[in-house]
Amino acid sequence: MASMKALRVLARPTRHSLSATRTPPALVSAAAVTQATPQGRRYASSKHPAGFSPPSAADLSELRERVQEFTRRELPEEVAAATDKSNAFPADMWAKLGDAGFLGMTADEDVGGLGLGYQAHCVVMEELSRASGSVALSYAAHSQLCVNQLQLNGTPAQKQKYLPGLIAGTKVGALAMSESGAGSDVVSMRTAAKEVDGGFLLTGTKMWITNGPDADVVVVYAKTAPDAGSKGITAFIVETASEGFSCARKLDKMGMRGSNTGELVFDAVFVPTENVLGQVNGGVRVLMEGLDLERLVLSAGPLGLMQAALDVALPFTHQRKQFGQPIAHNQFVQGRLADMYTKLQASRAYTYATARAVDEAGEVRTQDCAGAILYAAERATESALDCIQLLGGMGYVEEMPASRLLRDAKLYEIGAGTSEIRRMVIGRAFNKEYKHLGA
Ligand SMILES: Cc1cc2nc3c(=O)[nH]c(=O)nc-3n(C[C@H](O)[C@H](O)[C@H](O)COP(=O)(O)OP(=O)(O)OC[C@H]3O[C@@H](n4cnc5c(N)ncnc54)[C@H](O)[C@@H]3O)c2cc1C
Repeated sequence: MASMKALRVLARPTRHSLSATRTPPALVSAAAVTQATPQGRRYASSKHPAGFSPPSAADLSELRERVQEFTRRELPEEVAAATDKSNAFPADMWAKLGDAGFLGMTADEDVGGLGLGYQAHCVVMEELSRASGSVALSYAAHSQLCVNQLQLNGTPAQKQKYLPGLIAGTKVGALAMSESGAGSDVVSMRTAAKEVDGGFLLTGTKMWITNGPDADVVVVYAKTAPDAGSKGITAFIVETASEGFSCARKLDKMGMRGSNTGELVFDAVFVPTENVLGQVNGGVRVLMEGLDLERLVLSAGPLGLMQAALDVALPFTHQRKQFGQPIAHNQFVQGRLADMYTKLQASRAYTYATARAVDEAGEVRTQDCAGAILYAAERATESALDCIQLLGGMGYVEEMPASRLLRDAKLYEIGAGTSEIRRMVIGRAFNKEYKHLGA
């Protein structure tokens, strides 16, 4: 059961009344969850705050309603469209997300987190993405890539110093791993951290960093032993107010516009020893474990975009008449709607089953974290294309959100490792499992 504090936050009153319900069909029934986690069979893991117990289906459903209230109030279509047009993140959104409690879904309660776990984080990510893909992407870079990395790997002192501000939304977080020459092969990064008296000097550049232009705190990976390959990487907590740090430029992207993406420059930035995240030269473990959970939580992004495509296509096809009847009465149109719906439900089942295994059994399966986002991302692009086709001419104009959904969805086949790399990750997991047969 979720903690009392978490439930109090979820129960915050809202200023606006609700319009038509937007709750999608429940993925797992309350009975199924109760069966899987009868009283006394609660799991904790190293991926959760101490004393964590998985939320019930009712908790998750209540959370979903709260996020929907939030998006109706704070992130309506006009805000999402304006964010896309202006390519600028609505800065006041951080405090609103913080006030709602959404920025610390997986974090300890004593630093302001809700400690609700990964299913809950996916629920928030899905519903925010349904309202605005780009706001949700920035949200996940902050709450998962930065906050959760600090939660999992930070010392008590690091957590006390950085998490309260990040969770309240008064500070913005990011994670910088990729470089222009090191994307898929991220271990070949060249940003170097040279040990000096009292800390390290970081020198290099990082590319495509979500929230980079706005961030106050960045988790940065750099080489501390350049000749040691993957065993020579260290993770650091870097404050962007440090001398030598700059954001060289904000990138002009085809989609996810308004999720500010930047190229970061580190010109001999001093990072004190107490800001090493995890072990010196132990960064690859932080990075790879982080990537699993990052892929899992990000897989809820395409779910929200698929739901958004249905939110547009279903009413449109039932209102739009051609040949004297709603176009949705045409079997070709029904087939496309049915495919969109089925792809969403299958993707949703995969993501939440994977998140539930993390919450209830502490089991993080690399191939399923990669598999959930691989599957959902490709289906989201297909669904967005279907949505455009179903809208005909209106699908091709910016008055409707269909083209934005397509431009936003495509990112999920690239960011957090491309589809090709996800297939490689899954294949390698099988190679490990079946190694004995080839010996
Ligand atoms: C909007 C956006 C936000 C991002 N946010 C962040 C962030 O916050 N932090 C961060 O660190 N990074 C971020 N990234 C970077 C992202 O993770 C990389 O772009 C991604 O990993 C791909 O790397 P690359 O662009 O260098 O492509 P490349 O690695 O150059 O790949 C190019 C193509 O080659 C294919 N390819 C490469 N190697 C293989 C192989 N071995 N087998 C088969 N095909 C292969 C790829 O699949 C791809 O199709 C972001 C990217 C974008 C676009």
